[in-house]
Formats: sequence, C-alpha cells, structure tokens
Amino acid sequence: MSDSEFDYIIVGGGSAGCVLANRLSKDSDTRVCLLEAGPEDRTPLIGIPGAFAYFMFTRKYNWSFDAEPVADIRDGMPVFCPQGKTLGGGSAINAMIYIRGHRVDYDHWESLGNRGWGWTSLLPYFRKNECNERGGDELHGGSGPLYVSDCRNYYAINDRFLQAAVEAGHRATDDFNGAEQEGAGFYQFTIRDGRRCSASHAYLKPVRGRQNLTVRCNAEATRILFEGKKAVGIEYRRKGSSERVFARREVLLSAGAYNSPKLLMLSGIGDPASLAEAGVESFHELPGVGLNLQEHVDSCVLQESLKGDGFRSSPAGLLRMALEPFRYLFGRKGKLESSVTQAGAFLKTSSDLEAPDVQLHFLPLLYDDSGRDLKLMGRKGYSCHVCVLRPRSTGRMTLRSPDPGDPPRIELNFLEHPDDCKTLVDGIRVARKILASPSFDDYRGEELNPGADAQSDEQILARCKQKLGLVYHPAGTCKMGSDEMAVVDDSLRVHGLESIRVVDASIMPTLIGGNTNAPVMVIAEKAADLILAT
Ligand SMILES: Cc1cc2nc3c(=O)[nH]c(=O)nc-3n(C[C@H](O)[C@H](O)[C@H](O)COP(=O)(O)OP(=O)(O)OC[C@H]3O[C@@H](n4cnc5c(N)ncnc54)[C@H](O)[C@@H]3O)c2cc1C
Repeated sequence: MSDSEFDYIIVGGGSAGCVLANRLSKDSDTRVCLLEAGPEDRTPLIGIPGAFAYFMFTRKYNWSFDAEPVADIRDGMPVFCPQGKTLGGGSAINAMIYIRGHRVDYDHWESLGNRGWGWTSLLPYFRKNECNERGGDELHGGSGPLYVSDCRNYYAINDRFLQAAVEAGHRATDDFNGAEQEGAGFYQFTIRDGRRCSASHAYLKPVRGRQNLTVRCNAEATRILFEGKKAVGIEYRRKGSSERVFARREVLLSAGAYNSPKLLMLSGIGDPASLAEAGVESFHELPGVGLNLQEHVDSCVLQESLKGDGFRSSPAGLLRMALEPFRYLFGRKGKLESSVTQAGAFLKTSSDLEAPDVQLHFLPLLYDDSGRDLKLMGRKGYSCHVCVLRPRSTGRMTLRSPDPGDPPRIELNFLEHPDDCKTLVDGIRVARKILASPSFDDYRGEELNPGADAQSDEQILARCKQKLGLVYHPAGTCKMGSDEMAVVDDSLRVHGLESIRVVDASIMPTLIGGNTNAPVMVIAEKAADLILAT
C-alpha cells in the first residue's frame, strides 16, 4: 500500500488532532495520516505536572510566538504567546486545568445559526470525552479517554484563598463543571496518577499500534494541495526536504488557532489584499481567515507574603524543593505531582449577569510574564490572576511573508473595547477584596501590583496593562458560521471549498468562558461524528 495516499490527512497532532486520529482510524479499512510539526512527546518532563515552567523556556516543544508590541502594554515589550509543538499540542504543555465553560457560551454559538452546537447537543460529547475519578453522572463522564482528577498535593495557602473568597461574599464550589459554574474552589485536572493526561496520552497512545494509522512527527505542513476547489493533499517538510501526502476523502486542519489560518493563507485562502501584502497569490477569497482572534486577556494582583510557604525561585526556595524530584521519582508524590495553579474562581463582577464574567487563577507564588520573571518569582508572595472571560475586543493574525518558516504576525488588540477594560478593572477589585479578607491577615505584605497607590479605575487599568498577559486560549480565527466573515460552516467545512475542514480552537465563533482544552477536544469529538457520517 502506498505510504503517501490516505483517506484522511490530519494536520496537527494537538488537542483536536489526537481525538480525530483516534476516532477516524477506528475502522481498520480507513487509512489516516497525522502530520505533526513538532517532535514525539517522549521527554519525561511532559508527564510531570510540576514541570510546567520548563515549557515556557523551550522552543523545541513550544512555538513561543510573540504578539506585536503595543506602546502602553508591558512597556512596549511583546506579549508572549506559547503554543504546544509536539504530539498533544497545547495539552502537552498546558496547566492541565479541566474546565468546560458555561452553557451560555454554546447556546450562543447555536443562536448564531450553528445547528447542533448548543449545550444540550454538546453535553454528550463532554461526557464521552471525560473519565472523572469521582465517577460519571448525568453531567460527567466516568469512562472516557480524558482522565480528570482532584488536586492531590496542594500548597496550604490555597485554603486561605478559599476561606477569603467566602469571607468576601462568594460561594464555595467543589465542581466548576457542575450544574453551577460560579464560585471559588479547587480546580480539577487532566492528571492521572500524578502524570499529565494529554490528548496524546488519552487518545493517541492507546491506538498507535493500529496498522491503518500513520503518525509523522517533525513534519510541518507548508501548503494545501488542490485540484480545482477540492483539497487533495498536503505538502510538508521533513528533515529539510519537501514531501507530499494525498487524501482520498478529506484534509483536516487541526494546527491550532494561529497555525490553521496560517496554513490556509499560505495556500492562498484568505483576504486577497492581506495575502497580496504578504506576497501570496490569492486562490480563494475568504476574508475572515485570521480575523476574529480572541484570547483571555489577563492581569493580576501580586501580593508580597510575610510567610515563605509558597514557591520561590530563589536559592532558598529551590533548596526547599530539593527533595521533590526524588519524591516524584519514587512514587509520583509531592509538589511535582500537581499543577502549580490549584485554586481559583468564576465570579460575576455584577450580580445581574447571567454567567460569571471573570475567572481567577490563584498561585502560591509571584507569577508574571508566563513565569519568565524569575527575579519576581524569587520573592515571597502569592498572585491572583484575573481574566476577562468573554472579551469583546478582537485581534487578527496575518502572514509576514510567503515563507512558512516565518512566525505569524499576531495583533491581539487587547482592551480595545471599553467593556473589556471595565470588566478587567472590576475583576481586579474583586480579587483585591478577596486578598484583603481576614484569612490573609497574617500573610499580607505589600501589594506589588496594581500597588496601593493605584485606586482609581484609570490607575488600576494602567497598572494592569503593565502586567498584562494571556491565559493561552487563542480562538476564533477560522470562525464557524454563515456570515461573510465565517470561514467554516457548522459541519466545519471551509466555505466554498471541497474536502477540507478545520477542527480546532480556531472554529469557535466566540471564545468560551473558561479554559479551552476540553472544549477543543469536544469540538473534535463532534467533528469526528460529522466526518464519519458524510
Ligand atoms: C501554556 C498553556 C497553558 C494552558 N493551560 C490550559 C489549562 O490549564 N487548561 C485548559 O483547558 N487549557 C489550557 N490551555 C489551552 C489549551 O491547551 C488549548 O486551547 C488547546 O490545546 C488547543 O488545542 P488545538 O487542537 O486547537 O491546538 P493545539 O493543541 O495547539 O494543536 C495544534 C498542533 O498542530 C501542530 N502544528 C501547527 N502547525 C503545524 C503545521 N504547519 N504542520 C503540522 N503540524 C502543525 C502543533 O505543533 C500542535 O501540536 C493552555 C495552553 C497553553 C499553550
């Protein structure tokens, strides 16, 4: 049998791509090829939940994009945009928090005309995807591939955060994915027995032995091949040379919210003017490609601590961690068996809202610039990150040149919409109130950000901009819909083309209110059914 001809070609072995590879290769007569630009996910560090920080410093497993700098944000320094680059994609380097989002998000997608994408239609896919260690029920899956567990080893200061949230008037919850999302509590994680459960681990590894599934790593797709308007294959480069694979049925793009639109554009699909600017000849006009970029814009309250029981990157802090690698190695125990973000909250900045509009991530350390500010992290402290769950500002992603090796130009356009500024400032006030509650009295040192002198909305916003970051949830750049800016229809087929779909975070018409890994896997679960029903 030819090793260049398949039924389906999947570009990108990330959260969505691994799900597709599993589901589409179930029938042994169907030949599936998965192309992944990054290497195999063999390094043991991927499996260690506490090794999250390592992936912010490596370019081997992280695309490490930078957004275009903006003068009043981070003093004009670019905002860092990490993206997974290995089997598992984002799920191989993420913080492993398991969240589905709020039902209003999916009902909104359906109200936009996307049939079958409302909450009631997607819930069975969430259950199919999930294996919650607490067991299954009408809201949770108990036997799916993605293992979901409670935090096993946490820093004690997280208890203070939860008590403080209640003191500040918020409800406590033990399940952000239950009937009610609102509240403060511990997150659940995609961790199994102290090891990260990435999409690769959950969906790909169990089926790697299938004879009809070919997985090619270090294979970066550079162009989609067409016969007329029908996608027939992919050109990719591997080990310095260019190779081709052909699809008898469909080409499926699962390269993520930056790289899927990039590949479309490199193939001449997009806004003709923008393509011409990058030196690419237009093949198919689709003006929405790369637009509608949405991210969870995030800023933080950074609080110095009078105690030293959190994490510190100082010599003394690292010395305290010295035994942790051994505890992990011999029994998968200790601080490394858990994600460093352990507790958080979904809250409303105004009581009349239908759903929470901010999410808090509490960290037992001083965390800024994706954990790359090691000097700050060397001090004693704790952080409460606040993100705007449904940003109204949208950005865009464009090509710099026709060279596939050039990173995309990312313009996040954060905080362009005044509602986002208001939500962020109000969210910071909510976080401040929690950290000012009595439970933190014996911990509380100086507020390092926004800082005690920042009290007006304008002052808080200015400081937020200096510490602005992301929760790493880019979405929306190949949005699903039927308006003129939509890139795919509600079967995820690219408008105006044949035999090509996009299946990843980029198809979200609006960013969901929560972390995006499980929602992306669910998009892929549903897509697999749509594809197989064709
Ligand atoms: C640092 C970080 C922390 C996060 N934390 C959380 C969290 O705690 N909880 C949560 O729910 N979500 C989290 N997320 C978000 C979540 O992981 C992503 O939303 C999700 O993984 C996106 O899935 P995807 O399939 O759209 O893209 P990805 O998973 O990024 O997959 C795309 C894949 O395509 C490959 N690729 C790209 N271009 C090409 C090409 N040209 N040819 C071949 N292959 C290509 C990439 O290398 C990658 O493997 C985090 C993300 C990051 C980066």
